[in-house]
Amino acid sequence: MEKLRNTGDALALETEALTKVYGSGHTEVVAMRDASMRVRRGEIVALLGPSGAGKSTFLLCVGLINPPTRGHVVIGGVPALDGPRARVDLRRFRRERIGFVFQKSNLIPFLNAVENVQVVGELIGRPTSVARRRALELLDALGVGARALNMPTQLSGGEQQRVTVARALANQPSLILADEPTAALDSVRGRQVMELFRDVAHEHGTGVIVVTHDHRALDVFDTIYEMEDGVLTPATAPIAPMGTGGPVSTRP
Ligand code: ADP
Ligand code: MG
Repeated sequence: MEKLRNTGDALALETEALTKVYGSGHTEVVAMRDASMRVRRGEIVALLGPSGAGKSTFLLCVGLINPPTRGHVVIGGVPALDGPRARVDLRRFRRERIGFVFQKSNLIPFLNAVENVQVVGELIGRPTSVARRRALELLDALGVGARALNMPTQLSGGEQQRVTVARALANQPSLILADEPTAALDSVRGRQVMELFRDVAHEHGTGVIVVTHDHRALDVFDTIYEMEDGVLTPATAPIAPMGTGGPVSTRP
C-alpha cells in the first residue's frame, strides 16, 4: 500500500475551547464546554464517556459537520473553524482531509465493495482508473480484497466495517474520526478494527480519534480522553478492563 504520510505541521488536530449549545432559552443544552484536544500526526486517541456526554458532538464539530458555538478547530495546521465561522471551504476540506467511520457501516447499498471505496477518490477528482486501483489496494491491505465485487449485503458485519475503513482511508485523510465503529462487531472483530486504526495512524502519520465503549481494546491507544457532561479531560488513571476484571489477551 502506498505511503499516506502527510507533510507539514506536526499536529493532525488542535481544538481550543470548543463549546456547543443546542437550542435556546429553557430548551438550551450545553452539549460540550471548552473542549480542548491536540492530536499529533500518527497518534491514535480513544474518547470514552457515558451516553449523552457530548462525544458525538465533539466529533461532528471536529469533522466540520456541525460547527461549534464557540472555539477553534485547526486541522493539519490550517484554521478551519472560528466558532461557527468557516475559514476554509468546509465540504471540500472534509472530502479531502477527513475520513469518517460511523457505528453502522453505511455503505452505499447499490454499489459493490470496491465501488464504495472508489467513489471517494472520484469525488475528489481522481480519474476512475486511479481511484479504482487505490480502492483495490486498500481492500487488499484490509484483508477484504477477495470481496471486492460483493454487494454490501453479501458481506459479514466485520467485512462491511473493513470496507468502511477502506473508504475512510481512500482520500488519504490527515484525520480519521470514528464514532463507536466496533459497536456492531464481536470483541475479536472489534479489536481487529481498532488495531487496524492504530496501524494506519502509526504507519501513515494519520491522526485518529475513536469514540468507544469497549474497554477491552484500550491498550491499542496512545492517548485516552474521557468526556462527561460535555467536559473533556485526558484520562489520568489507567482504566481497568470491564467484565472479567483481568488483563485481556491481545491475540484473537
Ligand atoms: P454522546 O455521543 O456522548 O452520547 P451527544 O454528543 O450525542 O453525546 O449528545 C450530547 C448532548 O447533546 C445530549 O444531551 C444530547 O441530547 C444533546 N444533543 C445532541 N444532539 C443534539 C441536537 N441536534 N439537538 C439538541 N440536542 C442535542
Ligand atoms: Mg454518540
